[in-house]
Parts: sequence; structure tokens; C-alpha cells
Amino acid sequence: MTHPPAALSTLCVHAGEIDDPHGSPHTPIYTATTFKFPNTAAILDVVEGRRAGALYTRYGLNPTINALEEKLAAIEGAEAALAFCSGMAAESALFLTHGRQGVVCLGDAYGGTLELIASQLPLLGIPTHLLLGDELARLPEVLKQGAGLVFFETPTNPALEQFDIAAVSAVAHAHGALVAVDNTFASPVNQNPLALGADFAVHSATKYLGGHSDLTAGALMGGRDRVMPVWNWRKNLGQTIAPEIAAQLARSLRTLPVRVERQNATAMKLALAMQAHPKVARVLYPGLPEFPGHELAKRQMKGFGGMLTIEVKGGGEAATRVADRLKLFALAPSLGGVESLVTQPCTTTHQGLTPEERARRGIADAMLRLSVGLEEADDLIADLEQALAAV
Ligand code: PLP
Repeated sequence: MTHPPAALSTLCVHAGEIDDPHGSPHTPIYTATTFKFPNTAAILDVVEGRRAGALYTRYGLNPTINALEEKLAAIEGAEAALAFCSGMAAESALFLTHGRQGVVCLGDAYGGTLELIASQLPLLGIPTHLLLGDELARLPEVLKQGAGLVFFETPTNPALEQFDIAAVSAVAHAHGALVAVDNTFASPVNQNPLALGADFAVHSATKYLGGHSDLTAGALMGGRDRVMPVWNWRKNLGQTIAPEIAAQLARSLRTLPVRVERQNATAMKLALAMQAHPKVARVLYPGLPEFPGHELAKRQMKGFGGMLTIEVKGGGEAATRVADRLKLFALAPSLGGVESLVTQPCTTTHQGLTPEERARRGIADAMLRLSVGLEEADDLIADLEQALAAV
């Protein structure tokens, strides 16, 4: 896939769209599970890879899926992309393809990812290592044991910790390991891991890429030579995105920059308002100069994102009361949609961890993670203020 040089917003609208003979401005939905050929020689051309073409939808050889994948590759500046039926499908196919010698997970991550890496990959005999941010100096020692893939989120969930993509990639590459960054929280609008030296960007497209809390999908982007081996695992594990969802996701991507830029601006306003609020002990937002990872975020991010975490004075019970009183923020454990969401990590995303493990990871019971939607900033601030007034 080659893309003409263009700005992200132009790529989001135009990249990958097929030239429809009826004049549709965007790629139609091909619901077909299989595609017919004029003769056996023509089918062999596709099966044996001499010609790209539609063949069978579970293989991902479907025009709607391929158009989406071209757009996904373009927005991360990648040679190739694969679309999946969920973010976890993208991660698991990646780990099974490139992580069989061992996977290192840096920092905090989504609970499902942590469970897969810590508990399930070892059942297959895959060695895994989990290092927190303050253990980063141990990375070379762990890599010397032979791990082939370093995986991390940045910013992380829910503390928005920053990892230096260029520096970690340099260490990993020096030890012959590949690097995959879960770019879900930042989105390609705010951060491009491949440009910073990572080998893969992986997304829960369920979040900002989908952007409306109405589809479940995943994406993997990287160099063609490294992405294509994952194709075979996706094919036989049956993890391909459905064409209907692919079209829905492509539609969402056309508005991605507009949504995320507005979410960045609103999150900054909320962070400043919450920082000044007498009932808020701490605000974690990469855009705040006081935030520990602010300087790094300024270097490697183009925008600071739509996610922020506040710590309510009065502990876990006070935070629960605030979460339960919010009206515009829906209490739901997801992120990245047009509607604002709130979640208390100790009751949802990190509920499965012991209190000691949560403390080790810096996840306080008093934390509320806010995913900022497209509502007016003043309305969201008013909602937070009325809820905080109750504690
Ligand atoms: N990565 C991150 C950062 C997430 O927050 C999630 C889900 O919450 C996932 C991956 C998994 O994505 P999905 O739910 O689409 O499988």
C-alpha cells in the first residue's frame, strides 16, 4: 500500500476508499462470504498470491475489509494493517505470531491484556514478564533471557503514565526484540508509535477509532514483513472483522481528527477545573505542567488526549458517591466515544487485583477515570461540580 503524502485528516477521509462504478463516494459493504472467479487459473492467481483480490471473507480477502485496512495503515503511517474483530483479537494474534519466545509487558495495561500475558500465554509455554515503570532498568536483563516482544501502553490505564517509545525501542532492538505499542488511549491523532521507532501499533478500535461506543474491533499496523505473518494466525483463529463492522469503522475514521482534537481541548479544560477544585486531591493529565510525564508527553505526543483521572478527597467511598451522582458522564467501563464516561478503576478495570497489587501499581481507590466526549466543556464541568458537592 502506498499513500500519497497527505495530512492525517485528508487520509482519514480518502485513504483506501475504492473507486465505486456507481459513484458511491465511499466503499460499499460487500457482505459476501466468498467471491466467484471466471476459471481455475484466476482463482489460483489469488490463492497463490500472484494477484491481490477478493476470495473469502474470513481470510480478510474482502474489498470492504481491505479498504478499511488501507485507511488504518495510512493513519499510522504504516506499510500494512490488519483489522480484527476486537482489540484483544489483535493483541492475541500478535503475541502468538511474534511473542512465542517471550513477551515483556511494561507498566500498567488493560485488565484483559494483563490476564492474557500474565496467566494465559504461560499456559501455552510462552514465558512472560511484567515490569512496572519503576522497574524499567531491568528491561535489558529480562530481554537477555530471550523475550522477543516488548509490549506497552502509553499513556497507561488509568494513571496515564508515559513510556518513552523511542528509548524503549532502542533498548529492545539492541537485544533483538520487537516493540508493540498499544496506541488506543492516544489514537493516531495524538501519537504515532511507528514514527518514534516501534515496530507495531495496536488498537482497540472499539475506543477512539470507532468513537461512538457502538462497535467492537481491533487493528494492528506495522511493516509489511512483520504484519503479514500475523495474517495467517488471524485467518485460522477466525479473528477477522466482519464487513459490516469494517464499513462502520471506516465511516468513524473519517471524523477521527475532528473528534479527538475537540476531546483533547475539552479534557484540558476539565483538568484545569478539577485541579482548582477543593474536593479533588490530584489530577492526572499529561497536558498539565505538574504531571510527572508532561515533558515526555510534550516530546512524543501531538495532543494530550481525552482521558484524565482525578483522585477525590475522602477516599474510595467518596469517589463512588461522585461516580454515582454524575448525570452527563455515564458510569461505564469503556472510553473514546462521543459520550463522556466515568469509571472507578478499583471497581471495574482493576477490580480483579488485590488491594496490595493496586497500591503497587499506584491505583488508588479514590481514582475516577474520565473519558471526555463531545459535550460542551462547561456542561461537563458543571456535572462534575454538582457530583463533587455531594461529598
Ligand atoms: N487496549 C486497551 C488500552 C483497552 O482499553 C482495551 C479495552 O478496554 C483493549 C486493549 C481491548 O480491546 P477490546 O475490548 O476491543 O477487545
